[in-house]
This record gives sequence, C-alpha cells and structure tokens, in this order.
Amino acid sequence: MMRLRRHRALRLALRARNGERRTATVTDRRMMRTALRLAQKAADEGEVPVGAVVYRGDGDDAEILAEAHNTREARRDPAGHAEITVIAAAAKRIGDWRLTECTLVVTLEPCIMCAGAIVNARLGRLVYGAHDPKAGAVASLYRLCEDQRLNHRITPIGGLMARHASAQLKAFFRERRRVRKQERQAERS
Ligand SMILES: [Zn+2]
Repeated sequence: MMRLRRHRALRLALRARNGERRTATVTDRRMMRTALRLAQKAADEGEVPVGAVVYRGDGDDAEILAEAHNTREARRDPAGHAEITVIAAAAKRIGDWRLTECTLVVTLEPCIMCAGAIVNARLGRLVYGAHDPKAGAVASLYRLCEDQRLNHRITPIGGLMARHASAQLKAFFRERRRVRKQERQAERS
C-alpha cells in the first residue's frame, strides 16, 4: 500500500516535470470563446451548435490554424462535424497530417468518429466544453483518446465553459422542437 502510494506520488511528480497539464490554460479559454462563437454561427444556420478551433503555440504566440463549425445539414454530410472539418483544414494549412504540436478546442465532447480522427491526427491536446452523455467518446460512453491499445494517446481536458455550450445546445433544440410543433399544427389545420 505504502509502496503504491509512493509510486503514485512519483508518477505525479514526473508528470509535473514533463509539463503535462490537465487543466485548461488561459489560451484554451480564449480559443473556447472563439469556438463558442462558431457554434452560435452554426445554430444561426440551422445546424446543431458545435464549433471547433485548432491552434498551436501558447499565450501571445498562439496561432489559430483553422476554425470550423458543424455543417452536416448544409453539406448533407454525415462526416460534417466541426472536428473533422477543422482537423482537415489545419493539416492542409501546415502541410502535414500529424498535428502533434497542436491543440483542438471544441464546444462539445467528440463522438466516436471525431475521437477516431483526433487519434489518427496525433493531436497533441484536446480541450472540450459540454459533456455528451448520449454520444461522447472521450469520457462519457468511451475513452477512445486514452485507450492503451491504440498507438497514440491524449488526455482530454473536459468541461471548459461547459455551461455556455450546453445552454447553446439546449436553446437550439428547444427552438427546433417549437418550430416542428408549429409545422405539425399547421399541417393539421
Ligand atoms: Zn463528431
């Protein structure tokens, strides 16, 4: 027991020395505000409000490589999730499919498809807002980004400005239900 505890302390110390952070940085917060704006843009276009940013560097040196929002309806594309679009755009921008030096910031917990893309792009960091109990694949239903069997692992940082992202999603679905109800009533009369 004692040895186990010492082991854990050592591991934590090592992690601290390696600079691995499990909390969001000031830059992450700034990027999340941008992602939330992109999510709102999606909602305004009738898409489920999800926004994403890929950036590299930190503080004043931080550089946004790509921004995207959900475009599933407009493009009639099941892969039109913000994360897929933003990863492809960032890779194109730097001319490398490996995004090891980059951070992906997204307003909602990624699904299985997007978590797969995140692992395959070898993303350095992942920060997300609201948890998704129905489809989330990095903490809620699965922990794909931390699966020891895969050759790349990322420790996600979840829940950043989650209340804002959930409020956006709730407002969107409430409005959509209201419109659909109205349409049904119009059909009947
Ligand atoms: Zn997805």
